[in-house]
Amino acid sequence: MKCAACNNKMTGKKGSIDLRIGGKLYFVKNVTHEECAVCGEKVLSPEISQKLFEKIRSKQFVEETFKLPVLDCAYA
Ligand SMILES: [Zn+2]
Repeated sequence: MKCAACNNKMTGKKGSIDLRIGGKLYFVKNVTHEECAVCGEKVLSPEISQKLFEKIRSKQFVEETFKLPVLDCAYA
């Protein structure tokens, strides 16, 4: 599979990705995905996406609090 952003070859990986669905940010651990070594673009297979949507729909997730780096561009 080729990267949609830079057209380089993507490789299969297992790790963490972030996912934004319906304005909410989800952090997905131990998920199999394709990753571009050049630009870092990550893509999920339709099957995996479907499974994740199912999990979210049936609320099969835990709520954890994360510390995120936040950038405020109002004063930039
Ligand atoms: Zn890329």
